Amino acid sequence: SLFGLPDQAPHERVLLAADEQTGLKAILAVHSTARGPAFGGCRLWSYDNELSALNDALRLSQGMSLKNALADLPFGGGKAVIIKPAGAFDRPALFAAFGRAVQSLEGAYITAEDVGTTTADMLGMQAHTQFVSGIPRAGAFGGDPSPKTAWGVFVSIRAGVRQVLGRESLEGVRVALQGLGAVGWHLAEFLHQAGAKLVVADIDAAKVARAQELLGAQAVGVHEILAADVDVLAPNALGAALNAQSIPTLRARLVAGAANNQLATVADGDALQARGITYLPDYLVNAGGIISVAREYRGEGEEQAVMAEVGKIADRVTELLERVKTAGGDATPGRIADAWARSKLIKPN
Ligand code: NAD
Repeated sequence: SLFGLPDQAPHERVLLAADEQTGLKAILAVHSTARGPAFGGCRLWSYDNELSALNDALRLSQGMSLKNALADLPFGGGKAVIIKPAGAFDRPALFAAFGRAVQSLEGAYITAEDVGTTTADMLGMQAHTQFVSGIPRAGAFGGDPSPKTAWGVFVSIRAGVRQVLGRESLEGVRVALQGLGAVGWHLAEFLHQAGAKLVVADIDAAKVARAQELLGAQAVGVHEILAADVDVLAPNALGAALNAQSIPTLRARLVAGAANNQLATVADGDALQARGITYLPDYLVNAGGIISVAREYRGEGEEQAVMAEVGKIADRVTELLERVKTAGGDATPGRIADAWARSKLIKPN
């Protein structure tokens, strides 16, 4: 049933928006507005069928509720998915129609960039909705959230390496990056500057070549990256990288990356733990982007303040790993973070 898709939490609202003229088929999912308006990016992607698009939207929007709550943002969780039209399409017109759909929710959902969407798309949408962020603003704050997301993942890896590997610096630490896109590339740069040794893979050969040339990265195939002989694995492509097939092959001791929904199932978190691998929940470590667009939306986008707030993700990583230790038994970072985030799914003071 539509209200009982496997693994889906109940949602407050789901809008199926279609526009014949532009070919728009979008799902706008509002998981929770308990903390405030639902805030989460918009993905443009080709799906095998409409049900997979719906499933993706619902999983992602639920994740946004947890992400925004753990990041102490005064926003609930939501996400939108636009099913990429087959063949050529008028991009500005498609996003105009999507903007009108966002507006129709009257502020229950605020949108921004995600995979497949750009600052130009957000900029274009401004004429159709005020509930959009991730736009370069006068005074040079806001805009592309990816570098902020990457910074949050970087400080998380640094905190995780300290606690899990007992190493104070990233100098010589081997990190595998799956995906060198908007976030993955910035993350690779931060890691390289900190002295880490990079192993990389991307389906886009040009990005890999650039990482080899500019960052001295070692390239491996996309089917080999998850099992690379490294200390840390950073999945920065799409979801479900950590699953029953990949987990037994992993060699990293710490997993922390930008991709949303890295665990295919909750049980995969237990499987990682059983193998002695520490998994830092994606929605905890990749909150830098939403922190940036949320501040921008509230008109509080000063670069230094944003970076300082993103930097606090490292403190939460440290606190989470301490909570896991204290809980003992079969506690995993995933389950403890879930409970922690859910306890915050209430209106902030
Ligand atoms: P992106 O599309 O710019 O980058 C994704 C990269 O992964 C691309 O370079 C692509 O070629 C590569 N890729 C795809 N499949 C691959 C595979 N099987 N193996 C190796 N590489 C593969 O997207 P992005 O904005 O960098 O986002 C990456 C992930 O982080 C997504 O899951 C996104 O939802 C999540 N995320 C992004 C942000 C943000 O600020 N952009 C914030 C939070 C979470």
